[in-house]
Amino acid sequence: MNGTSKIEISEKALNANYTFIRRLLGKKQTILSSVVKGNAYGHGIEIFVPLAERCGVNHFSVFSDDEAYRVYHSSKKNSGIMIMGQIAPSNFDWVIAHDVSFFCFSKERLEKAISIAKQLNKKAKIHIEVETGLNRTGFSISELPGILEIVKAHLEHLEVVGLCSHLAGAESIGNYLRIKKQRQNFKKADQLLIENGFKGYLKHLACSAALVRYPDTRYDLVRVGIMQYGFWPSPEIFIEYCGAKSLKTSPLKRVISWKTQIMDIKNVKTGEYIGYGNSFMAHKNMRIATLPVGYSHGFFRSLSNKGRVLVHGERVPVIGTVNMNGTTIDISDISKAQAGDEAVLIGYQNDQEITVASFGEFSNQLNYELLTRLPEHLPRHIVN
Ligand SMILES: *Cc1c(COP(=O)(O)O)cnc(C)c1O
Repeated sequence: MNGTSKIEISEKALNANYTFIRRLLGKKQTILSSVVKGNAYGHGIEIFVPLAERCGVNHFSVFSDDEAYRVYHSSKKNSGIMIMGQIAPSNFDWVIAHDVSFFCFSKERLEKAISIAKQLNKKAKIHIEVETGLNRTGFSISELPGILEIVKAHLEHLEVVGLCSHLAGAESIGNYLRIKKQRQNFKKADQLLIENGFKGYLKHLACSAALVRYPDTRYDLVRVGIMQYGFWPSPEIFIEYCGAKSLKTSPLKRVISWKTQIMDIKNVKTGEYIGYGNSFMAHKNMRIATLPVGYSHGFFRSLSNKGRVLVHGERVPVIGTVNMNGTTIDISDISKAQAGDEAVLIGYQNDQEITVASFGEFSNQLNYELLTRLPEHLPRHIVN
């Protein structure tokens, strides 16, 4: 079934992004774990996972067991899967039975893992998450020795595959001191594991921003989300990196595009209101087009009278309010436009581009939120 709009995922852009990320990682055998929580940041888990695998990725990070399940069934290469957050109690056995690894951040979770692994006669693959300063989840350094005692007593049902933590905003230099403290705490935790006889586990701390800014946090695995999709974690990181390297264009390429087509066209006379309410009055005789995409399709209502879309390679404004299923645009200057013509909501047409950031009033910070709000029901296709 076709939707009223479609999302295109560019294999070429994705490949370029992985090339860039691997170049940053250098020759060291650091594992690139592709973070695909939030429906692969809106790109669609089912289409994204096999594509990333074709680009050489073989490890994925998700937030929850339901996402892990989707990755498991999308994977064509038996890739590693790591859950960084929630596991529903009723799905714990599925997770352990399928060798999905997971962050272990509480005594309850540790005990649950041991008891299920016993029942299944398996080893649960755990990443010991330490609290280094984000204050979200993780064992504090002070409780870690006690936890490690429990782990040591159950090694026939536990495999410590990793030691991890998450940084509290590596994308902003304002957090520099807090991050520095976190890096020190992480080293302390590592020391504790070594003292307790653990070895061979993967140390991981870095997200996209840390990968660029704090090379010493790369360790054995990096959890890369936003950058693989072609976005910088913040404008600051972009400026810092491209400035230092004197780059003229960004090495990261947007993977996603979003397109629809004109549904209908009509002429409106000067002085008439367009759409619901009276937020837009025609100030001249106008030619307007309706697009079959509204806020229920993820085209935000806040783009009313503000957004831009591309038609015939020209940037044209959204006029009036964005409706549930439709949006009106001004095509007065595009005489050749007709029903059925392509309209680009995100992406290129000729040499014009609508960026994701332009949706969020040019704020890159919001890329994360904007992307993950693209509805799952939109059809997604791979393009070159
Ligand atoms: C989301 C997330 C990441 C990835 O962050 P990006 O900024 O998108 O690279 C890494 N680690 C954890 C724990 C996360 O929750």
